[in-house]
Amino acid sequence: MKLVQTLPLWPQGKPNETIGLVPTMGYLHEGHASLIRKARSQCDIVVVSIFVNPLQFGPNEDYERYPRDLDHDCHVAESAGADVIFAPSVDVMYPQEIKTTVTVNDLTDRLCGASRPGHFDGVTTVVSKLLNIVQPAKVYFGMKDAQQVAVVSRMIEDLNMPVEVVPCPIFREPDGLALSSRNVYLTEDERKQALVISQSLKLGTALLLKGSTPQDAIRIMKQNIEQMPDARIDYIELVSFPELLPVEPLKPVNEQEKKARLLIAAAVWIGKTRLIDNMEVVV
Ligand code: AMP
Repeated sequence: MKLVQTLPLWPQGKPNETIGLVPTMGYLHEGHASLIRKARSQCDIVVVSIFVNPLQFGPNEDYERYPRDLDHDCHVAESAGADVIFAPSVDVMYPQEIKTTVTVNDLTDRLCGASRPGHFDGVTTVVSKLLNIVQPAKVYFGMKDAQQVAVVSRMIEDLNMPVEVVPCPIFREPDGLALSSRNVYLTEDERKQALVISQSLKLGTALLLKGSTPQDAIRIMKQNIEQMPDARIDYIELVSFPELLPVEPLKPVNEQEKKARLLIAAAVWIGKTRLIDNMEVVV
């Protein structure tokens, strides 16, 4: 496996093989590895990018303390089948003040976009840059960040970018907690409390499938989460995917708009750590 930290990434021009890109912010875990393995099974060359992108963090967010460990990342990426790790510095990615950004409207106003203004502009801008640098045929994203999948897919469609988005399922710990680089922030006690997120999503899904209205299911999920002393809900919503539109609160899910995929999406603070998770409601 090759580690590349400067540009150009392909000195001899684009290789004549299918390239798969897995964009990450590093501190790789089994969730990332599952994306890399998927790319390995579908592409000739697998590139994993590792870049903690300052543009997608708000001023009071965790950019500085975001966990970083390039040696460990190289090991995880290589074991999962990566050929190249592209790990540029901030100066390589942003050698001058950036005057061009990419914005996807509407889809970015809701859910995480509502509490993290500017976050998705940072994401779509850096993903555009990475796609231009790596020139992959396929790009892999986890459904853990379902809104990111919806936003990036829409950008790629709207701008006719020649790349296919491959959404990959959420990888969970055996007890249900979705893997995240930010789980490292949790104390042992917070780690236990964090379980309430996936448990509530499961409960909410079961209630909806039994005929509860979205309004009732979400109320019960909220009550469940609020029982944890250190949990504070940012949002819990039932939305259509990939439109991310709220559903009719009083209609059972099997009467919602035909063909729409429905997701319960949640962001919950556990102590000082903001965790996101979601579950699809398959009617
Ligand atoms: P991050 O390093 O957190 O920016 O994540 C990089 C990519 O890995 C994103 O597409 C995430 O959605 C994906 N990812 C992170 N955690 C998981 C997980 N538990 N299961 C599946 N994909 C994940």
